[in-house]
Order: sequence, then structure tokens, then C-alpha cells
Amino acid sequence: MEITWLGHSAVKIKGSRTVFIDPFLTGNPACPTCPEEIREADVIIVTHHHGDHLGDAFALAKKTGAVLVGIHEIAVEAQAQGVAAEGMNIGGTVEVKGVKIHMVVAHHSAEKGNATGVIVELDGKRLYHAGDTGLTYDMKLVAEFFRPDLSFIPIGDRYTMGVPSAVKAVEFLQTKRVIPIHFDTFPIVRADPQDFKRRVGSLAEVIVLKPGGTFTL
Ligand code: ZN
Repeated sequence: MEITWLGHSAVKIKGSRTVFIDPFLTGNPACPTCPEEIREADVIIVTHHHGDHLGDAFALAKKTGAVLVGIHEIAVEAQAQGVAAEGMNIGGTVEVKGVKIHMVVAHHSAEKGNATGVIVELDGKRLYHAGDTGLTYDMKLVAEFFRPDLSFIPIGDRYTMGVPSAVKAVEFLQTKRVIPIHFDTFPIVRADPQDFKRRVGSLAEVIVLKPGGTFTL
């Protein structure tokens, strides 16, 4: 499975299916990929209704024929624009094209619906994308139920966890590997991923990618 960080919270997961989460590409100063370059997607997941997460999701779904998955209110908006979408809510699971998506709590705001996190199950692996969130004890439930093989955790502070809380999140999640996200896109979410890595220490393997960088899971 190939994991690519596209800057900010945008990730691409390429296994037997191709999954995008929060594809904010147009207007993302840290994104190395033009939306025009993306031709293939099976599932596009949006964690919450903020421009830097919803991003190009509708346009990409239309272009690739991917199914959009998000909280009910996002799915309704997508369907109204002619996008194939599956709505769900926190606590639920949907399966689309063999990809299982579990929706979990995130502590954050949203233009519509709630902010969420997701656990994606694909090819026998579990990947947790925290979306935008503050630190929450609910992450202990994610550990207990899902034991993530890999987690995407925001560290940019101000709108999400900063480094100290993100380190605590790694402890709560008991995740084997972490990729820090949601930092250095804009000056107001500046963070030091190496400091995060140092503080996580032996709790988990911290994979610091550059935007466009890939990790093989
Ligand atoms: Zn947000």
C-alpha cells in the first residue's frame, strides 16, 4: 500500500483501491499535485465541511467516478450537485467498493454537519485520519476498537492539536505509525515535525513526509 501526503490534510492511499482523504489541492500552497493530474480514484472521504478539507472533493468525484463519503450534510450537498455520495454519521460504518469507513468523533467546528475523524480499512490495514481535532479521550476508543496500523495526526496548533497534545494523542491511540499533517501549509499553522518525532520517541514510528512524499505500508 502506498501512502502519499499531498500537503495539509490531503492524503492518497493506493492499495487495491485508490482512496483520497480531504483532497484540498487547488489553492493549497503545500500541494505538489495539480488536480488535473489525478485521473483515478475509487473513494473520496471528506472529514468535515471546511474549505481546506472539502477542497476539490466534488470536482474529483465527478471527474473520476469516485464515490464521496462524508457526514450526512456533506453527502446531501454532494448529491444535489450530481456527485455519487454515501452519507453517514459518527459511530457508523459504510463499505464502498470494498473499502470500509468508520466515522469517529473529532472536536472541531464545521460549516455544515459535524467535524469527524475516520478509520479506513483496506487490504487488511487500518488507517486513522483524525481530521481537524483537539485532543480527546475518545482516541482511547479508537485504540481499543481499531488498533490503527497508521494514523494521520494534525500538529499545526491554533485550529487543531499542537505538538504536545499530538504526542498525547499518539499515546492514547496506541498506533504503530504516525504521519503528522495539517502543518506548515500556511504561516499560522507552523510546527516542527522533528520536535514531534523526538517527543513521541519510542511510542510509535513517526514518518515525516514532505508534501508529495510517499510511504509504503
Ligand atoms: Zn477545519
